[in-house]
Amino acid sequence: MEDLRKKLFSDSKSAFDRMTAAEKKECAALNEDYKTFLTNGKTERECVSEAIEILEKNGFVPFVRGMKLKAGDKIYRSNRGKALLAAVIGEKNVGNGVNLVAAHIDSPRIDLKPMPIYEDSEIAYMKCCYYGGIKKYQWTVIPLELHGVIVKKNGEKVEIAIGRDPGDPLFTITDLLPHLGKDQLAKSMTDGISAESLNPIVGGMPYEEEEKGSDRVKLTVMKMLNEKYGIIEDDFISAELCFVPNFDARDVGFDRSFIGAYGHDDRVCAYPALRALVDIKTPTKTAMCILADKEEIGSTGVSGMKSACFDTFMHDMCNAFGVAYDECYERSACLSADVNVAFDPNYPEVTEKRNTALVNHGISLTKYTGGRGKGGSSDASAELMWRMRNIMDNAGVVWQIGTLGKVEQGGGGTVACYMADRNIDTVDAGVPVLSMHAPYEVVAKNDVYSSYRANLAFYTEK
Ligand code: MN
Ligand code: MN
Repeated sequence: MEDLRKKLFSDSKSAFDRMTAAEKKECAALNEDYKTFLTNGKTERECVSEAIEILEKNGFVPFVRGMKLKAGDKIYRSNRGKALLAAVIGEKNVGNGVNLVAAHIDSPRIDLKPMPIYEDSEIAYMKCCYYGGIKKYQWTVIPLELHGVIVKKNGEKVEIAIGRDPGDPLFTITDLLPHLGKDQLAKSMTDGISAESLNPIVGGMPYEEEEKGSDRVKLTVMKMLNEKYGIIEDDFISAELCFVPNFDARDVGFDRSFIGAYGHDDRVCAYPALRALVDIKTPTKTAMCILADKEEIGSTGVSGMKSACFDTFMHDMCNAFGVAYDECYERSACLSADVNVAFDPNYPEVTEKRNTALVNHGISLTKYTGGRGKGGSSDASAELMWRMRNIMDNAGVVWQIGTLGKVEQGGGGTVACYMADRNIDTVDAGVPVLSMHAPYEVVAKNDVYSSYRANLAFYTEK
């Protein structure tokens, strides 16, 4: 009976019981690099800069339209510094299709409004509009950094990352004291903190030479910003600034088996996808990595996955070989590398245990996402699932199956449907995350490594 069970039943084992000593060592090293990437990349722009640095160090060059290409060439294209496309040209012509991994590098955060600075009751604040799906109460009473760019009237671009250096000041959004929280605590968790109250404190010192005028604290803040960056209030109109958590990526747990950090979604898939691309030799099919922006607000916009920027890159690449892009698309396959929910024993009621990813059981292959009855999902075919499970098994990747919660519990989407809409076979595969979309998310190191190995296997498919 035991033999029969072994033969017939599916059996997912912990990566700890499956990985070799050499793999465990490689896993530890990869995760150190990943932590550095996370700590330095808290916006999509910062992640693109970091990624380009890694690519150029490894021989990748900017792909200019009209450039000749041959097997082994390593190319990349930055989309306005906010998204990135990179490829290693394979032995087979791109008309045979491309193996793509698409991850995203934007994360939920607190964006500034175009006219942010104001003063109320002698405290300076900034008005904000949150970005992506957040639980608002999680973003109060935590230390925040201010990151982004400001394009001044004269065209000069100022880059800001206040709070990154240990000596920098920080910012924070206040919450009500429990002593006076009676009415607030009776509200739902959605309404307990209002969106318009997510205004970080940015100053409190009145401008000293002004004895009676109004907005003296705001004046001090503006004067300091003007002295340091040369900006005036109107320059916030042409800026992209956001508050992000001041949490560096750190080991979690006595055994250090987890990483706690801001922005695992989706840099925990983006970094392994990039690293795997850098680490491969000339693949059979062209291998490509996409680091997309705007996934958290629907993949819209010029730097999102719906943008024709992707198609233009593909056209340019196909033109270099004189092949039709539609021929390339229909023979391509895409791993939509995005995080999935990890089973959380504190909240077992929202997931269905038999089809939910466990931490330390590897990358989660996700046939469909969406809400309710697969609404909005691209739903990978049986044939594609067959291909993927074989790629992973043949390469000894620790992987598992995962779905996003109970059928009518909620749901979510990724870039998968936008790739599939282009006639590219697409399936989701990503790292299971605890506390997804919180300012401090948790992943297992083994699952980061598994994601890297899965990407390697997919890029180098024979
Ligand atoms: Mn994501
Ligand atoms: Mn997300």
